Amino acid sequence: MTTTPLTDTDLRHVERAVELAGEALRAGDEPFGSVLTGADGHLLRAARNRVRTGGDGTRHPEFELARWAAEHLDAYERRRTVVFTSGEHCPMCAAAHGWAGMGRIVYAHSSAQLTRWLAEIGVAPSPVAPLRIQEVVPGADTVGPLPAFTARLRTMHHACHAGRDRTA
Ligand SMILES: [Zn+2]
Repeated sequence: MTTTPLTDTDLRHVERAVELAGEALRAGDEPFGSVLTGADGHLLRAARNRVRTGGDGTRHPEFELARWAAEHLDAYERRRTVVFTSGEHCPMCAAAHGWAGMGRIVYAHSSAQLTRWLAEIGVAPSPVAPLRIQEVVPGADTVGPLPAFTARLRTMHHACHAGRDRTA
């Protein structure tokens, strides 16, 4: 946890991650998007969810960014990265982030919020426990959730599951 305030540049990166979540939704995937920045705030890589169109439940953007960072950045550069993401990392992505030795995570909605939204919709719970990032990566530097983005993201998740995956 940290108390370092977000800058206008940080918020633009969050906005981009949320836009990518919207792109994923329009493409038929789940509404999650993420961007990876370097130490000076420049954009290194962007990714969006591809679980449905990719036919692979591990196609999360945060996982893709961790793999990209491991392949393209050295350990020093990875520690100084920031991941801006529409939704808090799931345990798989948090673990990948931790194993890759990456830096701060800024997320717009939390896993706890997503769990509540899916319950509202009547979607079956995730097969993976919705642990907080710190439960997977103790000491992780995180900021979130960000209330300014909550309503948009909740609407996207409702739209994603409208008419499908209902348990009732
Ligand atoms: Zn994930």
